[in-house]
Amino acid sequence: MPPDKDFYGVLGVPANATPEQIKRAYRKLAKKWHPDANPGDKSSAERFKEISEAHAVLSDPARRKQYDQLRRYGAFDGARTRPGAGGPGRGAGAGSPFEGFNPSDLGGLGGLGDLFSSIFGGRRRGPGGEGAERGESVETMVSIPFRVAALGGKVPISVPVTEACPSCGGSGAAPGSTLSTCAECRGSGTISFGYGGFAVKRPCPACRGRGKVAAQRCGTCQGVGEVRVERRLMINVPPGSDTGTQIRLRGHGPRGTGGAPAGDLLVGLQVEPDRFFRREGLDVHCTVPINVAQAMLGTKLKVRTLDGKHVVLRIPAGTQAGRKFRIRGQGIEKNAARGDQIVEVQVDVPAKLSPEQEAMIKSFADAAGLKY
Ligand SMILES: [Zn+2]
Ligand SMILES: [Zn+2]
Repeated sequence: MPPDKDFYGVLGVPANATPEQIKRAYRKLAKKWHPDANPGDKSSAERFKEISEAHAVLSDPARRKQYDQLRRYGAFDGARTRPGAGGPGRGAGAGSPFEGFNPSDLGGLGGLGDLFSSIFGGRRRGPGGEGAERGESVETMVSIPFRVAALGGKVPISVPVTEACPSCGGSGAAPGSTLSTCAECRGSGTISFGYGGFAVKRPCPACRGRGKVAAQRCGTCQGVGEVRVERRLMINVPPGSDTGTQIRLRGHGPRGTGGAPAGDLLVGLQVEPDRFFRREGLDVHCTVPINVAQAMLGTKLKVRTLDGKHVVLRIPAGTQAGRKFRIRGQGIEKNAARGDQIVEVQVDVPAKLSPEQEAMIKSFADAAGLKY
């Protein structure tokens, strides 16, 4: 466990610090490490984030209590006061710091799961997660038109989110139903299982970790306390976005419970192909057809640009099929750099000739010394 997850250590206060001490320590450190006081310094910004995170947990009595329980439980090196700590269960090396316990088991316990991912550095659940993001975040994909990606703009998206049930306010109880202490866990919300010589706590399945059970379940959420709803959001797509660009929407991820802040929503962009343009770096490429007369005699072409306007491109006499012309500055603009538009001409050859046209082409070929 990285030492920065010792929230008391981060704030430099003892584990029995009073709320006043925590507030004072936080104010002092936040002032010192605030990004405004250290412009451009990434490590200061990182430090400031840790301090804010530590304060967010320790200043909230409910979250601090959960955190203290986790510490006692042995979630961290250096804070292991759990009885029997010398025994089994000390995870060897990099994995979980203790065996037989999966932080995601606590997911159903609302705030605890969030707190856990916060403590564990926001490890993504499931395979392939190597992320070092703080807080729980979820990812979603959205398709956007080529031109919006290139030029930037707003795109509406719709994301499924879990919200507290509006009927019961998250309690899972039917209106007017009485709540009684859960018999299974005697109101603690957790159940201990014997595990390798010491006890492991799990959220109580009977009350879903709430510690209380309702005489009658809420009809809207079937007692779960949560409902899935579609939330419509507008995302701001920065100019020059590409497939794989991610936009972070702070606080639009899974809701927090017990005062925990909501996680982030990471929106991955998938750029739809355009019928006319394709992108290479900051340049945009397009193909424009010309006829044989234009190719041989030269012409002026009106070519559409990314911004929907047109520029006039001069095609010189004797232009070969596949020749590329560069229109400077009409590409994608990103970070003060600007690409070009590359126009490739395609020469359309008439598919069918009338007898009269054929005779004329033959006489042209004879005059030019072309064999056919
Ligand atoms: Zn409900
Ligand atoms: Zn229970």
